[in-house]
Amino acid sequence: MKLMERIRQQLGVKLFFSYVIIIIAGVVSLILAAQLSAPAALARHTERMEEMLYMVGNSQELVDSLNESFVVAVRQILLFATGAALLTALIVSTVVTRRLVGPIQRMKTASQRIAAGEYDQRVEAPGEDELSALAHAFNQMAGRLSETEQRRRQLVGDVAHELRTPLANIKGVMEGLVDGVLPPEPVTFQQVEREVTRLQRLVQDLEQLSRAEAGQMLLERERIDPARFIEDAVTRLYPQYQEKDIQLEVRLSPQLPVVSADKWRMTQVMMNLLGNALQYTPSGGRVEVTAQSTEEGLVIRVSDSGIGIAPEHLTHIFERFYRVDKSRSRAGGGSGIGLTIARHLIEAHGGSLWAESAGPEKGSVFTFVMPLLP
Ligand code: ADP
Repeated sequence: MKLMERIRQQLGVKLFFSYVIIIIAGVVSLILAAQLSAPAALARHTERMEEMLYMVGNSQELVDSLNESFVVAVRQILLFATGAALLTALIVSTVVTRRLVGPIQRMKTASQRIAAGEYDQRVEAPGEDELSALAHAFNQMAGRLSETEQRRRQLVGDVAHELRTPLANIKGVMEGLVDGVLPPEPVTFQQVEREVTRLQRLVQDLEQLSRAEAGQMLLERERIDPARFIEDAVTRLYPQYQEKDIQLEVRLSPQLPVVSADKWRMTQVMMNLLGNALQYTPSGGRVEVTAQSTEEGLVIRVSDSGIGIAPEHLTHIFERFYRVDKSRSRAGGGSGIGLTIARHLIEAHGGSLWAESAGPEKGSVFTFVMPLLP
């Protein structure tokens, strides 16, 4: 039943049936015309024949009359049939063309409006034929375009916002120097250097983010023991942990399974999680890194005894530029896109990354799972 309905909905079938209708109409009108016109012609002829036979008896005239009547009858029949067939063809083709061209015309208008920047344009897509499938695809494309445009605007706004603070700070220091309010001493220049470093980091992060969002993050995968990238990140950050007096404990299950991963990218993810744990855990606190193999894959966890995250922020911290406490994050040089990039990197490896926290001041746990090799 469903198959029949689908076949009936196909445009090709519709066109075919429209031609069949035209042909049937032509045949029916021919038959009707012949039936209506032939008996009358015959009757006229019989009448005339009787008259002639009675009066003149000229057989040649009889034959001529017979021919003439026949030709007239056939002409009438053809004329009528042609007229009827043409009229039917005109009606049917007008209806079919309107059904075909109408949606195409609407899509053309909508695409012109989208090209002019009206991204909320959509076309109606009733029925199930190829044209409505095309309209559906068109609407999907328009939706994606509108999302992309929205993201682009948001990104430009966010970047402008992120640039404003360091630039304003640099300008402030420069003005202070020019006016003689600030002394031209190393402390003053270090202030400028800090802001410039923040700007550099922001630019690097933005480059990575745009590549990650475009799905262009190229991974140099290799079969690797996860302990290598975990220990690499730990070694790099260990001095800072010591400096801040935070205890860093690494507990890896013996014989972790080998995974297929880009070593440098994974080190980057680990450094982001360990860097955050360091930044958001007060001195005297504790951070623990664990890794174990489970049925779902290799599970790596970074838990801290730090400031924790309130439930309403938990789902948002992976969004770009989202920071629970803007001033605190900025003070630590955070751009608010580290976790966004980390999640993209883990997902590019076929894994997933999420955060848990019992609430403010209760510490946080960041976990990611990497698929195991078959
Ligand atoms: P940032 O550069 O600001 O640290 P991230 O994307 O790495 O940016 O993190 C986003 C936000 O998530 C941070 O600003 C912070 O509010 C929160 N966050 C991340 N890690 C932790 C953590 N370990 N403890 C508490 N909050 C965290």
